[in-house]
Amino acid sequence: MDKFSVIDAHCDTISKLAEQNTSLERNADIHVSLQGLKEGSVDIQFFAAWIGPGNIYGPYLNRGFELISVYERMLKKYDCFFYPVTKVSDIYSPKNAGKIGALLTVEGGEVLEGRLSNLNVLYNMGVRLITLTWNFNNEIGSAAMDTMAEGGITAFGTEVIKEMNKLGIIIDVSHLSEKAFWDVIEVSSQPIVASHSNAKRLCNHPRNLNDRQIKAIVSKGGVIGINFYPPFLSSQKADITSIIKHIEYIAGLTGVNGIGFGSDFDGIDELPQGVEGPQDFPGIINELLRLNYDEESVQKICRGNFLRVMKTVMKE
Ligand SMILES: [Zn+2]
Repeated sequence: MDKFSVIDAHCDTISKLAEQNTSLERNADIHVSLQGLKEGSVDIQFFAAWIGPGNIYGPYLNRGFELISVYERMLKKYDCFFYPVTKVSDIYSPKNAGKIGALLTVEGGEVLEGRLSNLNVLYNMGVRLITLTWNFNNEIGSAAMDTMAEGGITAFGTEVIKEMNKLGIIIDVSHLSEKAFWDVIEVSSQPIVASHSNAKRLCNHPRNLNDRQIKAIVSKGGVIGINFYPPFLSSQKADITSIIKHIEYIAGLTGVNGIGFGSDFDGIDELPQGVEGPQDFPGIINELLRLNYDEESVQKICRGNFLRVMKTVMKE
């Protein structure tokens, strides 16, 4: 493993593979390529099954199953490159040495279709993180981008959170409304993450987190994955400096224990200048080192913080 290996907590590459007849060889259609992951020293990549609107992609659970089968095909096709992470011990297994860990996530709790038993089904399929909502309110709670974003977490959502804590599935609050966010903080007995969100103080977007939210995530032992989508980074043109500014801001607010990366590669239609894929993580890391962040802090931001949450929540 390289000194500054990276855990990237969010990408939408599975949807890209599902919709376009593309491969993970480096090409213009995808951000996350095999070569890019290697060049960027990515150690674990979270792969999201993005459920999306039902009127476009069909019934939610079915859509989840379809994307999970795309994910499984990807693992099979590139089995000398990836290994699936379903237990923390997978990361340390000698048979996985030299490979990149793939962690399966679902973006959109509507996948459960309001049934708690579906959580077990998804856990058994390897899902280890669920983003409770995408852009629309669902059975679990209300979303930041919904026109009716005032609601919190529902009674069903409360049960889902408790069950996720029990099973060892990481709770992701990116996309949640603020009221729902505070309900999660209250209900979850485990650390939570915002896998791909930034600081609202620097970029006033409903998808970003205010200072109180950032502090609450960090004091619960959780992590915020910095999102590379330019409209979440800056109201002006975004580049590597814009990414660094969000890291600096959160570090100033709470220290470095709650900062990670959640690039949103392959889920975003524009990128910051100087970033084309995971191959550009070293450019970001070098900038942090240049700013005199000590190696231990940089390692936490790159990998250590998300790994800590995985160890705490996934249990085994
Ligand atoms: Zn998202």
